[in-house]
Amino acid sequence: MDIQLDLAPCGYFSISDSGVVQSINQTMLTMLGYERDELIGQHIESTMSVSNKVFFHTYFYPYIQLYGHVDEMYFTFRTRDQKAVPVLLNGVRQTRNGESVVDCVVVVMRKRIEHEKDILHTKTKLQELYQATQEANKELERLHEEYKIKEQALIKVNDQLETLASTDLLTGLKNRRFFQEKMLESLMMFQEKQRYFSLLVVDIDHFKSINDTYGHPIGDLVLGNLAGLLQTVSRSTDVVARYGGEEFVVILPDCEEEQAIGIAERYRSQVASADWGEYNITVSIGAATVVEEDTEKSLFQRADNALYASKTGGRNRVTHAAQMVRS
Ligand code: GH3
Ligand code: MG
Ligand code: MG
Repeated sequence: MDIQLDLAPCGYFSISDSGVVQSINQTMLTMLGYERDELIGQHIESTMSVSNKVFFHTYFYPYIQLYGHVDEMYFTFRTRDQKAVPVLLNGVRQTRNGESVVDCVVVVMRKRIEHEKDILHTKTKLQELYQATQEANKELERLHEEYKIKEQALIKVNDQLETLASTDLLTGLKNRRFFQEKMLESLMMFQEKQRYFSLLVVDIDHFKSINDTYGHPIGDLVLGNLAGLLQTVSRSTDVVARYGGEEFVVILPDCEEEQAIGIAERYRSQVASADWGEYNITVSIGAATVVEEDTEKSLFQRADNALYASKTGGRNRVTHAAQMVRS
């Protein structure tokens, strides 16, 4: 064997058709830990484990007989001291000097197998991570859905609470707190944009005698009915609220003195002409229209003074604060 083949960077051996070693290079001998004369004339299967022998019989021999060559077969030899050597094996069957021989080259595959193991390990890890990510995403979606539902419920509860906080329970009208907020808003709109508005204070006449005659529960009923009536008479932009007791307030946006008196008159006459059964219900109304230097207090005070004038003037009537100033 010439020196190039003997020391080539791959193993080389040739065997007879029955598997007896004819020649073998030094690289292959070093790989397996044998001396040359220990293997020449021996069966190549003496360098294989039992299971690899079976594999060799099942694949290598039939294949090389059938096709004349074996390409890139993954295989494992066994060294003299029983260590496994994973290799890539190529073989070709040819005739030399009238006899058929099988020439084989062998490349050790240790590094490649390690790499393959690494790649497989990484792939498995990636799959696990991918699955974990999928599961986490699903959980995230579920939590998001849950969050949305809870958020909706919270918004609803908040809305209900807000409504409750701004509603008068007996009459269902807006309450004093809401009215005061609207007064401040209206004052701001007036100061910033000169949008005039008026305020009505509506008070039931001789309401105490209703309570005294028919009892407090009937008085409550009257308050509820009157609230409904005021609401019906109001325009959609008017803010009707119960100020307290048997006293109501109405904010009339974009409304000056004359129009305020007209609207107040409408409220008053509708109450007076409504069918209250066996009792007679009338209201006295005080009206005031906002002026430059007004605060919430001063405007309310003028409307209340006008209400007092309506009461002392005989009740069931409307007085505008500006009329008092003029007279
Ligand atoms: P005026 O014409 O001067 O307004 O006389 P009035 O009797 O209506 O006024 P007064 O302030 O003397 O009495 C108000 C009455 O309203 C006394 C109170 O018992 C009654 N009242 C206040 N709040 C309620 C309520 O929530 N339910 C009932 N049933 N009565 C109430
Ligand atoms: Mg009253
Ligand atoms: Mg009163």
